[in-house]
Amino acid sequence: MSNPSLLILPGDGIGQEVMAEVRRVIDWFGAKRDMQFDVSEDLVGGAAYDKHGVPLHDDTMAKAQEVDAVLLGAVGGPAYDDLDFSVKPERGLLRLRKEMDLFANLRPAQCFDALSDFSSLKKELVAGLDIMIVRELTSGVYFGEPRGIHMEDNMRVGINTQRYTEAEIERGARAAFEMAMKRDKKLCSMEKANVMESGILWRDVVTEVHADYPEVELSHMYADNGAMQLVRAPKQFDVIYTDNLFGDILSDCAAMLTGSLGMLPSASLGAPMENGRPKAMYEPVHGSAPDIMGQGKANPIACILSFAMALRYSFDEGADATRLEAAIEKVLADGVRTGDLLSDENSTAVSTSGMTDAILEALDASL
Ligand code: NAD
Repeated sequence: MSNPSLLILPGDGIGQEVMAEVRRVIDWFGAKRDMQFDVSEDLVGGAAYDKHGVPLHDDTMAKAQEVDAVLLGAVGGPAYDDLDFSVKPERGLLRLRKEMDLFANLRPAQCFDALSDFSSLKKELVAGLDIMIVRELTSGVYFGEPRGIHMEDNMRVGINTQRYTEAEIERGARAAFEMAMKRDKKLCSMEKANVMESGILWRDVVTEVHADYPEVELSHMYADNGAMQLVRAPKQFDVIYTDNLFGDILSDCAAMLTGSLGMLPSASLGAPMENGRPKAMYEPVHGSAPDIMGQGKANPIACILSFAMALRYSFDEGADATRLEAAIEKVLADGVRTGDLLSDENSTAVSTSGMTDAILEALDASL
């Protein structure tokens, strides 16, 4: 059987710096765990624009469709701010998501004990927090028609349409139930069935899909209550499944419970390919951080945790994903910090590569 294939798209700014660290981690798994990946690398975002005049070349798009997983750094930066909308770096990212039809966006919110002081909530509410939000990514109010701004009775009217087919709700629900099966078997579905017809359909379809996953404990919650519960008692949740709009807001809210942007990974999954693996793209939540680029200050953990998600969700290597997460937890518990994780100005930060050195050492110790 051929090795699993990975396409690395470092992108711009610190995307390139953190991805260089991920390559060291991939090499470690090759050397020490005999996990060989066929790794190729290409351009996206501003870097692709500089070379090709577009933020994603067609050849790169074709490669992304063929590989087992795409790992993306970050795109954008001040040099590209004035470009026409059609060639802005972010368009490269959106094209990947759209053409790969990545409909399930996984946003974990995990609070490492050593960082629980960083949360805006009380330590005891977030210590040990580990929730996963599955957000429907390709439909809903961001895409529904009709949309636009038009004149009515001499007044401008803005319109967006919340529209979901049962097939769209169902495929995301299956991804969410599958996720729950790999975790604590608890799924909370969030919508606004009290005031929205699309919410009633959402609740019905999720309930129907539940019949195929009887081991999972399913609950339903109105999304506004969900927002309150996330900041009141977040540890009550395991997996949350919600639509594109509510998911956008709830996942950012949940992410901030955990502290720094430099710690947050994500995955976007699509339909299974011929080999059974889902189409998949993994990326840190943060952007290209132009304010710290080129200074060795970027925290590589979000990107390394994104690779851990690839191990778990694309390559069925859950035990090694856990090994990598545990190594990161150990390093943080030992007090190793990049600048974004320091609250005390007198403490010393390690560099981007210094953080990876410590993680690789902890991985060695795990063998
Ligand atoms: P950002 O996420 O790049 O940075 C926000 C703040 O967090 C900055 O102060 C930055 O230094 C810090 N930060 C982010 N990641 C960090 C890390 N790994 N380690 C340490 N500190 C980190 O968001 P922004 O400043 O609003 O945007 C900068 C550029 O990135 C813009 O061009 C924006 O469009 C783009 N962007 C891209 C993505 C993406 O590629 N997915 C996401 C968000 C923003």
